[in-house]
Amino acid sequence: MSNPLFSDQVLSHVNRIEVYQPGKPISELQREHNLFRISKLASNENPLGSSPKVVKAIQSELMNLGRYPDGNNYYLKQALADFLQRDVSQIALGNGSNELLEMAARAFAGSGDEIVYSQYAFAVYAISAQVVGATGVEVPAKDWGHDLAAMADAITERTKLVYLANPNNPTGTFFGKTEWEDFIQKVPKHVIVVLDEAYTEYVTDPDYADGLDYLDAYPNLLVSRTFSKAYGLAALRVGYMVGHPEVIGYINRIREPFNINHLAQVAAQTALTDQAFVKKTVELNQQGMVSLMRFFDDMDLEYIPSQGNFICVRLGESAPQVNQALLAEGVIVRPVAKQGTFAEFLRVSIGLQKENSHFMDALRKILSRSA
Ligand SMILES: *Cc1c(COP(=O)(O)O)cnc(C)c1O
Repeated sequence: MSNPLFSDQVLSHVNRIEVYQPGKPISELQREHNLFRISKLASNENPLGSSPKVVKAIQSELMNLGRYPDGNNYYLKQALADFLQRDVSQIALGNGSNELLEMAARAFAGSGDEIVYSQYAFAVYAISAQVVGATGVEVPAKDWGHDLAAMADAITERTKLVYLANPNNPTGTFFGKTEWEDFIQKVPKHVIVVLDEAYTEYVTDPDYADGLDYLDAYPNLLVSRTFSKAYGLAALRVGYMVGHPEVIGYINRIREPFNINHLAQVAAQTALTDQAFVKKTVELNQQGMVSLMRFFDDMDLEYIPSQGNFICVRLGESAPQVNQALLAEGVIVRPVAKQGTFAEFLRVSIGLQKENSHFMDALRKILSRSA
């Protein structure tokens, strides 16, 4: 960048923010390597795309782009309320759940406040704390996952909000009912707990603690979910948050009036009606997960057991080189850290069978070359 002109004017906490690094887009790799076959396993997207019903529903709305969308998201909220067995007053919608995660910080925390989250948690939590000028308190992970007991201990009088991801991205780890219940009981009633369940549809472990079951007992709990992953609508940006009507009301006050565009509302509402698509997505994910774990076992590679649609595999200090070599083979995966032991891992999203095979063949080839 050229000499900064406004570094004295920009808020210092904004100046310190490191820009979120998204997964490499397919078109970028195509430009760089002139590759024909590319498998993008970098952003935990749905490899099946989205439900054909959604595509049809959007197509029939293409003549209605001249008017503003319904700012109250009436039909989508109603559909969600029915689906979740909740009242519409308990639901807020976001331009992706990402926006809701940040709105929670904007509504409840500011300069001088603390926001608690785990080491190796979703990068957006630290960014959201920085955006509002709050102090981010990162609690060391345990076995790559959230150490909920330590997180409860990290709460002080200055803590306004805690972010939790269950399952967590990028590690794929999850926490069970006992650990969760111990935690939420210990959290002071005035501290907002944002439980990010972006991957809840993929979870197979019966000990998983579903946040919705705890909303009635804990008015300080907000559960966020998304249409970006199992519903396959990442491009359209729709997420939702469920909580106590008063807390949801505060989120809605700072929401931009038209944050969910019309096509996104129609798409999400239709996507909810196609649970068969979600089921197919989850089944494909389970098959892919099993074949990747088997492959890692065969190759003697360590991995972090995952409840999401992705898995982290340990490649040691040469992980960045392996990543580059995978790119040269047309496989995009995700480096998860720049330094420390976690940088020895790469995160691989579960794709279609042929994409998973592309990855496995490429990795086998790369590792046999360096052996
Ligand atoms: C993908 C993801 C989200 C969802 O992001 P959207 O903004 O809804 O697309 C939220 N939290 C975690 C942990 C994620 O991995």
